[in-house]
Amino acid sequence: MYTLDDFRDVVGDKVLADIYRAARGLYGVKVLHVNSTYYGGGVAEMLYTLIPLMNDAGISADWRIMRGTPDFFNITKEFHNAIQGDEITLTDVKKDLYQQTNEDFASYCKIDADVVIIHDPQPLPMIQYYKKSQPWVWRCHVDLSHPNPELWRFLKRFILRYNTAIVSHEMYKKDDLHVDQRVIAPVIDPLSLKNKDLTPDQITEILKTYNVPTDKPFITQISRFDKWKDPLGVIEVYKMVRKEFDCRLVLCGSMASDDPEGMVIYDEVQQRAKELIDNRELILISVENNTMVNALQRSAAAIIQKSIREGFGLTVTEGLWKGKPVIASHVGGIPLQIIDGETGFLVDPHDLRGCADRVLRVLREPKMAEEIGVKAKEEVRKKFLITRLVFDDLKLVSDLVGH
Ligand code: UDP
Repeated sequence: MYTLDDFRDVVGDKVLADIYRAARGLYGVKVLHVNSTYYGGGVAEMLYTLIPLMNDAGISADWRIMRGTPDFFNITKEFHNAIQGDEITLTDVKKDLYQQTNEDFASYCKIDADVVIIHDPQPLPMIQYYKKSQPWVWRCHVDLSHPNPELWRFLKRFILRYNTAIVSHEMYKKDDLHVDQRVIAPVIDPLSLKNKDLTPDQITEILKTYNVPTDKPFITQISRFDKWKDPLGVIEVYKMVRKEFDCRLVLCGSMASDDPEGMVIYDEVQQRAKELIDNRELILISVENNTMVNALQRSAAAIIQKSIREGFGLTVTEGLWKGKPVIASHVGGIPLQIIDGETGFLVDPHDLRGCADRVLRVLREPKMAEEIGVKAKEEVRKKFLITRLVFDDLKLVSDLVGH
């Protein structure tokens, strides 16, 4: 496990000195994070690094993972979609199971912390099953700008109990939520298996292991098989691109344990793109492996993120950090990360032709793509590395416990 000092070469002395200074008044303060999956998706990814670094800074940080039945995760997946605007039939059965699962979890999850940070909607109602003796924070990683009104009204009853709600984007703050709201943008860990440097030999080896041919360039999208990530749209874009430029498409999406819809979308992709798969023009990967994601991102000629909705889009950050041209939808947190035409390309999520044209430009102009990649990496170094989150969370804890 890394310590803060391991990041010196990447971020420089000043960033570390600022963190150590911010931690000084907080030694031993206990912070508990709760989410609902240990793998798959950006939240688990971030907690995995954040918690040890907070401990290294001098805070006492801990992480619990909520348990639930498949039924529970089906419901929370519906909630997840409806928070992002989908219709939902919000029955009493669903509401009850949602709350009951939280109550059950609370009955065997003892909390001994000075600050509790609850991630996303799954464990949100936990707060009502404890005698609250500390500040609670609801950290929402989802795009909150157009929540389904009925669901929003229901969820607010829990959120109102929290001291603070944290969202990933200024746009996700809600006027009708009478709770202190803050923005903390997500980050990546530059030293993780997913992001650390790899040698060309390592990359070749990994691609071979996962049967990714390297005889021609490939473009890739790495995302859960989720309708909001629009894998079918990526396939349409690819079909346009390959008419003019010989390349492959690699779609990589692992299945998160709290995402039961993944299998359904994966099957749909398989059916809709059978011919491309049979011809080895589309390579589908559904394995979870960080080093493989790293190798794919580093060897892709272009990285696509064609999301229709996106909380933040860590895959974009990861692609930019690898110095790659990223072509991504102008939605959610993505425009915070990409300066269009300078550090990557932003496209309308419904403009397939526009997306294909940017991909073609990048494929045809490797020098331009490389220049964009260099700037992209520097932007991430300044704004979206884990050390920035450690600093922001220390400030948050400090404000909440009043040290
Ligand atoms: N991810 C992965 N394997 C996959 C698909 C995604 O490791 O097959 C990782 C990806 O690299 C990123 C995270 O899962 O770190 C996804 O975070 P993002 O914010 O892009 O989307 P989310 O899944 O949280 O909506």
